[in-house]
Amino acid sequence: GSVMEKILQRKSNRMRNMQITWQESPEGVKMLNFRKSLPSFKEKDRLLAAIAHNQVMVISGETGCGKTTQLPQYVLESEIESGRGAFCNIICTQPRRISAMAVAERVSTERGENLGETVGYKVRLEGIKGKNTHLLFCTSGILLRRLLGDRNLNGVTHVFVDEIHERGMNEDFLLIVLKDLLRRRRDLRLILMSATLNAELFSSYFGGAPTIHIPGFTYPVRAHFLEDILEKTGYKLTSFNQIDDYGQEKLWKMQRQLMPRKRKNQITSLVEDALKNSNFEDYSSRARDSLASWTPDCIGFNLIEAVLCYICRKEQPGAVLVFMTGWDDISCLRDQLRAHPLLGDPNRVLVIACHGSMATSEQKLIFEKPPPNVRKVVLATNMAEASITINDIVFVVDCGKAKETTYDALNNTPCLLPSWISKASAHQRRGRAGRVQPGECYHLYPRCVYDAFAEYQLPELLRTPLNSLCLQIKSLQVGSIGEFLSASLQPPESLSVSIAICNLVTGTKQVQNAVEFLKKIGALDEQENLTNLGRYLSMLPVDPKLGKMLIMGAIFRCVDPVLTVVSGLSVRDPFLLPQDKKDLAGTAKSRFSGKDYSDHMALVRAYEGWKDAEREGSTYEYCWRNFLSTQTLQAIHSLRKQFSFILKDAGLVDTDSSISNSLSHNQSLVRAIICSGLFPGIASVVHREKSMSFKTMDDGQVLLYANSVNAKYQTIPYPWLVFGEKMKVNTVFIRDSTGVSDSILILFGGSLVRGEVSGHLKMLDGYIDFFMDPNLINCYWNLKTELDKLVLR
Ligand code: ADP
Ligand code: MG
Repeated sequence: GSVMEKILQRKSNRMRNMQITWQESPEGVKMLNFRKSLPSFKEKDRLLAAIAHNQVMVISGETGCGKTTQLPQYVLESEIESGRGAFCNIICTQPRRISAMAVAERVSTERGENLGETVGYKVRLEGIKGKNTHLLFCTSGILLRRLLGDRNLNGVTHVFVDEIHERGMNEDFLLIVLKDLLRRRRDLRLILMSATLNAELFSSYFGGAPTIHIPGFTYPVRAHFLEDILEKTGYKLTSFNQIDDYGQEKLWKMQRQLMPRKRKNQITSLVEDALKNSNFEDYSSRARDSLASWTPDCIGFNLIEAVLCYICRKEQPGAVLVFMTGWDDISCLRDQLRAHPLLGDPNRVLVIACHGSMATSEQKLIFEKPPPNVRKVVLATNMAEASITINDIVFVVDCGKAKETTYDALNNTPCLLPSWISKASAHQRRGRAGRVQPGECYHLYPRCVYDAFAEYQLPELLRTPLNSLCLQIKSLQVGSIGEFLSASLQPPESLSVSIAICNLVTGTKQVQNAVEFLKKIGALDEQENLTNLGRYLSMLPVDPKLGKMLIMGAIFRCVDPVLTVVSGLSVRDPFLLPQDKKDLAGTAKSRFSGKDYSDHMALVRAYEGWKDAEREGSTYEYCWRNFLSTQTLQAIHSLRKQFSFILKDAGLVDTDSSISNSLSHNQSLVRAIICSGLFPGIASVVHREKSMSFKTMDDGQVLLYANSVNAKYQTIPYPWLVFGEKMKVNTVFIRDSTGVSDSILILFGGSLVRGEVSGHLKMLDGYIDFFMDPNLINCYWNLKTELDKLVLR
């Protein structure tokens, strides 16, 4: 004890000296002066005192006031100043990887250090920290995972949970776990940070924890709604005619289903009123209908272009931030702008597209000042709403939508649709224009639509499948899943939550679905206890389905192709589908699939081809010829390495890759492993005369995504398709699929760990298509024992 104490004391003294040296150096003084100019600095002493006296605190303040970069740093500095630097251990969570990394980098710079010294970060599969790291920025997912193995967070003194207003699933989940932990760790400090003002909810969840608000210094921002924008820009909404029959009505119907009835009526009548009373009357009746489901991404980007033009021509200098729904839209718009005489002229306008996985060098551009007389235009998704702050923004263009996954629990289907943002989000977006001077915000929708927005966005916990979450709850050993979740801020079952109206019916169903799913894949047994497989899955930082595929690939020694499939499914599809060359792109993809009837095998081949091309130094040509995205393949490549590392780390594969790949050449086996991971994502192939249709287990009809290799055939010689994802976009689509035989389904479809195998085997006569390999039979018979042997280290 006391020797350790002495070592830490000596280290603490060293930390203090280094801090003083930096703060007295010329750059240090400059940096300190900048930091002193932030609004949070005025509250520093009050904040530190409050943190010292309360176990839980809620802190709110406008974005950019210095919560994320300053508050954890104040705690760190004050511990160091008081000679206790080496005794403290501060963790600050972020909802997104990109912000955890960017903030850690920034705080290191502010301390005159390199990343990985006092300040570090850790995100999924990646991180920089050292033995002297006392302030760690990590994603909320990482902290949750740590809590699984280290239930008391030993050694941690302060936990900051940032951006709680977003109500991300991980944050909500963290709060449940931490609330419980605070009872056991009376010395632990928890500080919640939030941008908008729903602090009371969190404060009352922690029994009336004190809240401190940091007054901001934002300048006023004028809001312009569509009516006003049309007048200003002289833009004619003829583009309503450009709305194709892109299922607008269906889309609107869906939104109605997802929206509480009251709000729906409100919107409809408000829109109608607006149409009657305003300058909208000259639009066709078709336009009226469409206005209700107004999506700027459907009307083309011309309106955005017109607004940007207007700003560049008529307005004072200042950078522009455009909020769009997703990366697809952003890159399309960027391409369109490139062709524009003014907006495409790099000497006058600098357009930067901003996305989550961008390289650091690109990221820097966003924050930097453009050359004189050049206007910076940043295209971003809602991640620019709060997590990152671009200082010189004076104009904001807000399309009013964000792509969010909602979840239709009744049909157990995730939906990915651009949906309306909340009033809180709109306010947040607007505020981004007033950082340095008064700003202007262009909302590309009528005022009446804004009035009908919900106050806050629905918490993620209420709109996602809970598979991973339930698995983690199980491994936390906190009792029944339902009971545990009912302790959350707005429990999925809760009847009292006004904004969760549409989930009233679906809440309980959501938990049931997740438990059913985990039973089906063999992660939970009938009594809802974790199986061995389940315990392994809860340790792998991937979706349970993909985790299972990895484990099966390891057991059956075909790791390489399975790594490619899993990485591909986690990143995104590397096959490009340019609008004007759909046919050529489809043919290119089919070449990879051959007679496999499998998108997943096509991916494996495409990746292998890319590796070959890399050896010959011809990746560019290879990708171009085959309509593949180099960037995506690179991302898959690096994720593969990380997954491979995880498997080795968990002791699931041999370090000798020739052993773990001894069966990789066996196509049928790889197909079977894909099936084992994707089950119960399965559809039967129904042939009828010249057409085919597909039915899922619950009898729902699904369509194949146009880019699937299986969409090209008139018949498929397999009775089943397994798929990774079904997605509701007006109708239910399945994306990537692989044909499988009855035998594969019987053997690899269900949960093998529950000993149902022998029953199935009797049905095997005549289905031995892939059992030609004696190795495989051995492997198969040993499977149950193998899984049982996987004892946690
Ligand atoms: P909050 O968390 O309250 O939104 P931050 O702590 O993230 O605010 O940022 C505070 C201020 O620090 C910002 O307004 C900005 O001026 C500055 N800042 C943050 N990140 C960077 C960066 N990467 N580069 C330069 N300045 C930054
Ligand atoms: Mg912040």
